[in-house]
Amino acid sequence: MSKRYKVFSVLGLPIHLMTNYPNWLLERLQQGEGTHVVTLNAEMTMQAERNTSLAKVIQAAELVIPDGAGVVLYLQLLLRQKIQRCPGIELAEKLLQEVERHTEAKVFFYGGAPSLAATAAEFWLSQLPKLRITGTHSGYHSEEEEEKLRQTLSQLQPQVIFVGLGVPRQELWIAQNRHLCPQAIWIGVGGSFDIWSGTKSRAPAWLGDNNLEWLYRLYQEPWRWRRMLALPEFAWKAVVYRLTARGAIS
Ligand code: UDP
Repeated sequence: MSKRYKVFSVLGLPIHLMTNYPNWLLERLQQGEGTHVVTLNAEMTMQAERNTSLAKVIQAAELVIPDGAGVVLYLQLLLRQKIQRCPGIELAEKLLQEVERHTEAKVFFYGGAPSLAATAAEFWLSQLPKLRITGTHSGYHSEEEEEKLRQTLSQLQPQVIFVGLGVPRQELWIAQNRHLCPQAIWIGVGGSFDIWSGTKSRAPAWLGDNNLEWLYRLYQEPWRWRRMLALPEFAWKAVVYRLTARGAIS
């Protein structure tokens, strides 16, 4: 498969830039090329600075997309051109649409509070009736249940697997378990099941368009303030990093 993307470094982590992510993923799916998609934002970048396992997983992922406003602004300053932000939830949604239209691939939702993934699946089946969501599993469970989940995935061989356990749990879980379904597209989708099940809502588009979706999340979930200190930390590190390193990898 041709490369069709450029890789840039954001504080030592890769970002893949291309014009059409869903289309590229659809081709990978059709060719059975297993893929881990990471949706990178400033907070995750700061976590990776302290967590080398997470950093290694991000570096090994086949696709890392610019999900967060901080990462996009950094790239814009680096490249001096407009970069399109690609929120992970939107990529996941577009992928489901493409999968329904062009394939009979099996889809699996894992994560979220009990029954949320199932409710999210019902929502998607109402939108895309031909979509084959062949299983769902809550993100809160015992060790034994998790072992059963692994067996289910292994037998079922879904080709699109969304894992919504939050960062870094979902990235580490995918890296540890992707061998169970080596031909699948695996995406860490954070709180997307909360949105699709109607439990939470996304920021209005005008906030997202102005790189302010984080502000809406802070308003909805004030307990996030401590986690969001990663944003100014990221900005500061980005300045220091730019003074000492080069951005482009290839
Ligand atoms: N979650 C889960 N199991 C856990 C911890 C969290 O399934 O042990 C789910 C949680 O219910 C929520 C998602 O993981 O649906 C995390 O969402 P959040 O928006 O916090 O993700 P992040 O900001 O880390 O991408």
